[in-house]
Amino acid sequence: MTQIDKSKPVLVTGATGYVAGWLVKKLLEEGMTVHAAVRNPNNEKKLVHLNEVAANTPGNIKYFKSDLLQEGSYAEAMKDCELVYHTASPFTTDVKDPQKDLIDPAVEGTQNVLETANQIPSVKRVVVTSSCAAIYTDAIDCQKAPNGKLTEAIWNTTASLAYQPYSYSKTLAEKKAWEINEAQSQWDLVTVNPCLVMGPPLNPHATTSESFNILKQMGDGTLKMGAPKMGMGLVDVRDVALAHYLAGFTPEAEGRYITAAHDTNFLEMGQVLLPKYGDKYPLPKRALPKWLLMLVGPMTNKLFTRQFIRNNVDVEWKADNSKIKAELGITFRPMKTTMEDAFQVLVDHNIV
Ligand code: NAP
Repeated sequence: MTQIDKSKPVLVTGATGYVAGWLVKKLLEEGMTVHAAVRNPNNEKKLVHLNEVAANTPGNIKYFKSDLLQEGSYAEAMKDCELVYHTASPFTTDVKDPQKDLIDPAVEGTQNVLETANQIPSVKRVVVTSSCAAIYTDAIDCQKAPNGKLTEAIWNTTASLAYQPYSYSKTLAEKKAWEINEAQSQWDLVTVNPCLVMGPPLNPHATTSESFNILKQMGDGTLKMGAPKMGMGLVDVRDVALAHYLAGFTPEAEGRYITAAHDTNFLEMGQVLLPKYGDKYPLPKRALPKWLLMLVGPMTNKLFTRQFIRNNVDVEWKADNSKIKAELGITFRPMKTTMEDAFQVLVDHNIV
């Protein structure tokens, strides 16, 4: 049972991020002081949305310069905080060197932030943004899960530096977090494990998240011939922010929380947009056959290896989200709302 004093500052690492933006908004709306740890506090383009939210809410925001790879660089930002949200971690598939670009910032960054928590006596709880990627690599992994559904008891054992290194980075980082947590008794650890996050970005002109690239593909013509029926989970970014908030402030919160609203697939995500946007935008209408993808996929996209297609296309994804619903009382937005609100941002900002 960990009670957090809401009058104390709350640290959010990676505050510029897509997911973190909505979390910071929620904390500011609740009137809290947010210590926003960012790589560059002078990069106005990346902070514009946070400053705007701060100007219109009762809370306060203070920026701190921190980098995952600079040991000790979160200490000043963490001072006096009882609650630490560690969201910073690269989420991209466009990497040249997976060790340097994904694994090191994820794992060394987690170590850096959590070891700093060991040195700051005010810290009582750390909430780490992990991922369903720390639970599974491919949709086919669901078939090996009890009752065919991913649960919090499962760990990803199939990602590697060579295959799905982002998933590998999240697995190693979350393991590191639990290892550091278990070696001390000052603070407790809660992890939020979202599946693919969608929904409106607060700062569409400076969003680096892979979620946004996936969203753009829906409307930029990439999928006009169709989309793969690739099994995956989907959750709204606003619900993920609320999950973080509840994970921080619910005294009984414990362990991992699968944060997944809908068992779906890539094609279905595009198809829910058809009634509202189908006339004007080149949305995917039909499924690309698996045999065709096996033939041409590897030539069109380096991530679309035959192994990936075999293990994900036309394979159902299923996860058990009962723990977060029961323990944190969360209800999830419908998929149509999530997709439409996200796509509308692209329309409003002339991105598609
Ligand atoms: P994002 O918008 O790209 O956010 C990533 C954040 O990490 C940015 O604030 C970025 O800072 C920061 N970061 C990256 N490298 C850093 C470094 N070396 N030092 C300090 N900060 C660094 O992506 P996101 O989707 O919001 O992801 C946020 C978290 O959610 C990540 O932990 C990700 O793994 C997790 N997650 C995301 C999804 C999803 O579908 N989006 C699903 C499950 C879990 P800069 O702005 O300075 O680059």
